[in-house]
Amino acid sequence: MTSKPALRNGAGIDVGGTFTKAAVVSAAGKVLREDRIATRPSEGPRTFVSRVAALLSSWRREGLSFSAAGLAIAGDVDAEKGVLRFSPNLPKFDGFRLRDELSARLEVPVVMDNDANLAVWGAYRTELYGRPQNVVGVTLGTGVGGGLVLAGRLYRGSTGSAGEIGHARVEIPGELCHCGRRGCLEAYAGSYGIVRRARRLLAQAPRAGRLVRALCPDLRNLEPAHLSEAAQKGDALARRLWAETGFYLAVGLSNLVLVFNPDAVLILGGVSRAGRWLLDPIKEYFKAQPFKTPFGRAKLKLADNPNAGRVGAALLALDQARPRR
Ligand SMILES: [Zn+2]
Repeated sequence: MTSKPALRNGAGIDVGGTFTKAAVVSAAGKVLREDRIATRPSEGPRTFVSRVAALLSSWRREGLSFSAAGLAIAGDVDAEKGVLRFSPNLPKFDGFRLRDELSARLEVPVVMDNDANLAVWGAYRTELYGRPQNVVGVTLGTGVGGGLVLAGRLYRGSTGSAGEIGHARVEIPGELCHCGRRGCLEAYAGSYGIVRRARRLLAQAPRAGRLVRALCPDLRNLEPAHLSEAAQKGDALARRLWAETGFYLAVGLSNLVLVFNPDAVLILGGVSRAGRWLLDPIKEYFKAQPFKTPFGRAKLKLADNPNAGRVGAALLALDQARPRR
């Protein structure tokens, strides 16, 4: 290349079961405009594509241009074909050529990938500035996902399933996971796993967790945010819970560190708001590993940008999209 390409914007679209959030993002990762629409999965994918295209086109008419777009979807995504193989939230979308339909409507190249991969790409580009070559990322939400950046590129594996750390086994037989198996990392570090263990501990020790109970008197409404706040304020039960969660995360992540020898390990998602109560046990576990070199290199970083999926979708689109044939 002889000349530097002009800075462009990308559109990022995060498709959820209830809401779809769209944004136009600068090449530097800044959100310039964003909005959300109801996904309405029952209306099917064609109507959905029309409504997303209408929203983005209305922004264009206001003068906000973009030269590529990215779709982030929770589920089994075939990034090569631009097709959703399976998503529990969007059953009518299975097999539909979502990427090409949206590309035809918007007349820009579109990339499509699962939301965890794109969230990791977003954090990689905006928080690590795309500098390290090898990064392992884990996304903590209701479920646990992950993504791998190897040699500076998003690594998808042979079927686009790479980086699915949430269902890597960290205990035998272990807690029951939403996937039906036992002992998956998600069953410990996903928000439902954290809350389930918290309720059990609180039931076993009626005098413990005073701050947790004060913050959330009806334990049916308990969320990781309550446990983060209680831990910050000194609650021993909440701190013990985060230490356990950190331990299981460390077990899962340490296997990835040994396999991929990354420069950095990114921990994304709202659960990461527990901060040092989650991070310190992982640091300790890494420090105690006998194989010093890879654990000495892997820098741990918490990233808590709720826009990471959309930003990552837009940036990957700018980074990777090829012109339509
Ligand atoms: Zn599982």
